Order: sequence, then structure tokens, then C-alpha cells
Amino acid sequence: MTLDSRLAASYADPSLHAHGLFIGGDWHAGDGIPVLNPATTERLAEVPDASVRDALRAVDAAEVAAAGWRATPPRQRAEILRRWFGLMTDHAEELAVLISLENGKALADARGEVAYAAEFFRWYAEEAVRISGEFRHAPSGANHILVDHDPIGISVLITPWNFPAAMATRKIGPALAAGCTVILKPASETPLTAYAMARLGAEAGVPPGVVNVLTTSQPGPVVNAMLADPRVRKLSFTGSTGVGRTLLAEAAKTVVSCSMELGGNAPFLVFDDADLNAALDGAMIAKMRNAGEACTAANRFYVQAGIHDAFVAGLTQRMAALKVGPGTQAGTQVGPMITAKAVTKIDRLVRQAVAGGAHVTTGGAPLSGPGYYYPPTVIENVPEDAEMAHEEIFGPVAPVYRFETDAQAIRLANATEYGLAAYVYSRDLSRALRVGKGIEAGMIAINRGLMSDPAAPFGGVKQSGLGREGGVTGIMEFLEPKYFAVNF
Ligand code: NAD
Repeated sequence: MTLDSRLAASYADPSLHAHGLFIGGDWHAGDGIPVLNPATTERLAEVPDASVRDALRAVDAAEVAAAGWRATPPRQRAEILRRWFGLMTDHAEELAVLISLENGKALADARGEVAYAAEFFRWYAEEAVRISGEFRHAPSGANHILVDHDPIGISVLITPWNFPAAMATRKIGPALAAGCTVILKPASETPLTAYAMARLGAEAGVPPGVVNVLTTSQPGPVVNAMLADPRVRKLSFTGSTGVGRTLLAEAAKTVVSCSMELGGNAPFLVFDDADLNAALDGAMIAKMRNAGEACTAANRFYVQAGIHDAFVAGLTQRMAALKVGPGTQAGTQVGPMITAKAVTKIDRLVRQAVAGGAHVTTGGAPLSGPGYYYPPTVIENVPEDAEMAHEEIFGPVAPVYRFETDAQAIRLANATEYGLAAYVYSRDLSRALRVGKGIEAGMIAINRGLMSDPAAPFGGVKQSGLGREGGVTGIMEFLEPKYFAVNF
């Protein structure tokens, strides 16, 4: 037995993980949604398919728990989150294998995700006791202005498949710290990690009903029913811009507060004065973390004319050397894509660019299965109007475009409806900052290939989203200011 099938066999045993709708602290067994291993297409498990009725039961449970959780002293909420951080850290390897099996990412990426995910619990354990207010004099002198912060209320959290642990903890951490109870709906492709984390949360002392988890094959009707329930006051969504738009329209009907972490189309700018090796190291991280299936993934490499050819040669060499395989197999650096559909989309974007005159320097066609594999690919001379310049590739494909001037680089970087992340490489820090100021994005990495940090505000502008997660700001998404006009 290879390492991969041995691990797969052990984690395919449903008794190792509680799969069931997690409502009010109880597990409700069920089935209906098969969970596949994208490395092999084998079935790992089957999870329940929640109905609208189940979802409303979860809202009932969140409501029953709400008053008690809101009244729980911040220090106690913090200690529960801190214990949950500890349990995730203790179970890091088990969680990483689970992520790798259901999502496909290489084990090294999965280990990185678990550490990153757990940090949101530690960070918000620290923030739970620092929720502040305001006290001012009214400019007229007539009264005092006292501002308190209340938990916003029952929150529906929806997460994508690409970071099954971190996208959930980045919402649950601040929501619980703020005093809100939640219903988490993870992506159907990767629900096992969410259920495993819920199990650890209960062990950490999260009271029944404070965190509820449900999977469904009909996210539209199930989520819409929760949004229509007047007890639900918050929607925190991470996923594609298309679904985000639909949910914003739905939430408008009951004026539910929305936080939206949506798609990206990150530019990666390399100027002539950049340190070439540092830029290549950064490019590999920005492009290949999670095999390119990241909202922050570098989607367009803009390289200045003087360094362009050396950059393409270096990137081609590094991408061609990566080892593709099942995520849990020793030595794998690039795992499979999430579904066959994802491979088809990447293939279509590459073919279209080639038909428009682009040239592939490595990779360029899907690999044979079983499993959904696409090789690391570098593609140059991509026309500016190619579809891949405007759409998230969400895979291991690096298109390189040439530019001449700083102004042109900024114009190209901004030529998209998205505005999540951008990367700038230059040895001249004032130039990098000037360019960064000109780029319409919520996050700019300068001479770095990675910007995600639980202590920093994560989020986008334009159609990449509304609001921020993480950092000091993240908890504000789950709080409402309440103003008292006071006369002594
Ligand atoms: P998706 O939009 O297809 O699905 C995201 C979640 O929404 C899933 O749980 C899905 O079941 C649910 N969903 C789908 N239709 C729904 C509906 N009508 N009503 C309610 N819920 C619905 O996205 P995905 O394919 O899972 O994830 C990839 C996308 O997520 C990419 O666009 C990526 O950029 C984005 N993403 C953004 C961030 C960020 O922080 N900005 C982070 C990770 C991923």
C-alpha cells in the first residue's frame, strides 16, 4: 500500500470523524452528498444534505444559544477560542491530511493552512477582551456621546472549498469573540474539515448552538430561507463574485448586513530594478500556493521589458521542476484541481490564449487521470484581451505580459473589475509604494509573495468584496455600534 492509499483508507472511515448536521450541539446523521478525493476520484465519505427545515432548526438553535453567549464574559469567550486554537494545533496533522484528501492540495500547503486557520482563533481570543467603545463631548456642549458595541446577532457564514479550514475560522473566530452565534455552511466539496473542526470546538467548550454546521446540495434555497428569517442579522460570505452578487440581492430583501470576500485577479508587477531571484521566489509562492487555487493567486504577471526574458526563463525552469501528484503523497508539490470542471476551464483559457498568439514555455495541457490534474504552466505573449487576463484562472497557469513604463503597469494592473490583491517587486521602495498607491486593490505585497496574516485586514475593493476579515477590523463586521446621548 502506498502512503496515499493507506492514509486515504484510514480517513475514509466515517467513524473517525463525526459527519452529520451539527445543530444545537447534536450530530444528526444523514447522507446524500458524496465527498470525493480529487486525486483519485474515489469516494471519501457521504455527508448529510440539509433541507430548508434543517436550516431553520439551526437558526432556532443559534437563537436559543444567543442570549447566553452574548452574556458570557469576554474573558471566558476568549479562553474557549484559545482552547480551540490549542486543539487545532494538537490535531494539526490529522486536519492537514483531511484537507489534503478532500481538497487535493499538497500536504505542505495543507499544513500551512491549518497553522494559518488556527491562528484566527488565537488572534480573536486576544481581541475578544479588547472590544472598545467611545466617550466624547458633543460639539454643541449639550450632552455626552457614549458609544457601545453590541454583537450584531445570528450570523450565517458561507465558505468555499479552496481553504476549508481557514475560511471558516476567519469568520467563526471574530463572530464568537464579538458574542454572536453562527451557522456555518461549508462548500459541499470539502465539508469534512468543517465537521472535524466543529468536533474540536465542542471539545474546547463552545456551548451547544453557538456554532452550527450544515451541508446542503441546494445552497440557494437553504441560504435564502435563513436570510429571510428576521432572526438572522449577518451574512459573511467567501466565494465567487457571481454568487456574492446573487446573495447581496437576496440579503437586500431583509436588509441583512453583508461581508463579502469575493474573487480576485491579482497582478504581479516586476520592475527592471527588482531582485530577479527574489521576484521568482515570490512568484512561485504567489502563483503556486494551493496550486493556484487561491483568491490572492497571481493571475497576471506584468514584467518590465528589461527583465522580461530572464523572468520568463527563470519561471519556466522553476515551474517545470515542480512535482505533480496526489496531495498526500510524499514529495508532491502540486496536487490535483478540485473538479474535472476546473480542469476544463483552465484548459479552455490556455487554448484561447494560444489561439490569440500566446506561446507556452512549459505545461499547457491537462494530464491524464484518474484525478483532476493540470501541470504547472507558463505562457508568454498573452494578448491583453485574452479571457485569462480578465477571469480568475484558479489553477497553476502563469501568464506573462510585457510592459514599458510605470504608468502603463498601473493601468494594466487596474484593467479589471476585481481589486483584491497585488504584488510589486522593485528594489526602489518609494517607487514600489508609489505604484502600490496607484493600484486599486485592498492588499498590496511589496517584495513578498504572500500577504495573508491573521493580524492584518484581508479583503478587496471593486467587485472583490465588501468589508475586511482578520486584524483589528475583522471583529467590527460582527459588532453594531450603539450610541447613547447622555446628560449627567
Ligand atoms: P462559489 O461561489 O461557487 O461557492 C462558495 C460557497 O457558496 C460554497 O459554500 C457554495 O456552496 C455556496 N453557494 C453557491 N451558490 C450559492 C447560492 N446561490 N446561495 C448561497 N450559497 C451558495 O465559490 P467556490 O468555487 O467555492 O470558491 C472559489 C471562489 O472563491 C473564487 O472566486 C475565489 O476567488 C473566491 N475566494 C475568495 C476569497 C477571499 O477572501 N476574497 C477566499 C477564498 C476564495
